[in-house]
Amino acid sequence: MKLPVLLLGFIALTTYGSPVTEFLSLQHEADISTINPCKDKELLSCIPTSVDFKKLGQDTIVLPGGLTLNQKKTFHEGKTSFAVYADDMENEAFFSYRNNRMMGKVSMSDNTMFFVEPCNNWEGCHVWKKISQDSFVDETHVVSPHEDKLSEVELRKIEELRNKGKNDNTATAEFTMMFYYTRDFAANTDDIELFMDTIIGDMNLGYENSDIPIRARLHCVEAAALDDLSESSDMLHAFDAYKPSPAAIRETADAAQLLANDFHNCGSGYTYTATGHSGHTLSVVKKSCSFGYHSSIHEVGHNFGCQHDKGTSTNSHYDYGYGWFIGPENLGGRGYRTAMAYTHDGHKNRVNYLSNPNVDYQGYPTGDAQSADNARVVTENRFLMAAFGDESQACNAV
Ligand SMILES: [Zn+2]
Repeated sequence: MKLPVLLLGFIALTTYGSPVTEFLSLQHEADISTINPCKDKELLSCIPTSVDFKKLGQDTIVLPGGLTLNQKKTFHEGKTSFAVYADDMENEAFFSYRNNRMMGKVSMSDNTMFFVEPCNNWEGCHVWKKISQDSFVDETHVVSPHEDKLSEVELRKIEELRNKGKNDNTATAEFTMMFYYTRDFAANTDDIELFMDTIIGDMNLGYENSDIPIRARLHCVEAAALDDLSESSDMLHAFDAYKPSPAAIRETADAAQLLANDFHNCGSGYTYTATGHSGHTLSVVKKSCSFGYHSSIHEVGHNFGCQHDKGTSTNSHYDYGYGWFIGPENLGGRGYRTAMAYTHDGHKNRVNYLSNPNVDYQGYPTGDAQSADNARVVTENRFLMAAFGDESQACNAV
């Protein structure tokens, strides 16, 4: 009879000796007026927090308010680690982390979203900030103003690379992204490099989800001497004019994307430019939408030749290049659509998939072979995209 008493005493001592810490310990009383990531206009709340990084390795995490999510996936991109958590009630978390700094988002079934972001105000500073997913306004796209006058040699090379993409649907192609950011983005972001790594992780998760044999890699990150403009299409044209040519903007990467802190919708990108010669593969994206609404993979999708759902756009190049509303309306509560599809009643929830008739989500196909196969568009054009830059140029200072 003595053993259970001894064990009980040991357990009590252990509990006293090491207090249980939360994954996120919110500091409700802290002054947020000087915290840069708390300065966004659309925030419903912004609360400083510390992060217990040991909890990220565990099978479950408990979020503020008591929501418990289960680990679904972990992966690495360079020196950054990623973890995806979810439950069966449409709540999902996506975190990136390195060197005791974490970035990410939690998409909630009640249509809100929380971001976690590092801040520089004190050692271990992070914020837990809340937005409404209604603040995401769908992206626009712009037909490239650059007229490609192609020589016979160039035309033959394009044809060769496109045929290679058509005939081989298994070899993984890698393309590189050159990221820029506006002055406004810098004023609201304390770990720009981790932010760009998080975008790459979100894009690669989307390609993997969609069974597309392509992966993105970060080439360089550069500050742009540009301020936010209120219209994303104006921002795209300003980005296009920022250096003498698209090639100069890409700095030997295959595509370039400018991150702005704020404009009225989520982004804008040039369409069908992966199949041209000039490499006019440029896009602009609003910070909260980049991985929060999968707008980065959406805009690069336009570069590849993908289009929105068939009801809201016309694809002049690929009659199978449209986004898709997945399954019946209001499936799982709000309904689902792929990352290229515009919002639609009964299909509010955008998921990190490009349409593919051979990939299911929640038991329903994410595309249609005749009309919604953006995965095929990207797969066929992946070697063309990867051939634009040779990655020979070293990075300028961040
Ligand atoms: Zn779009």
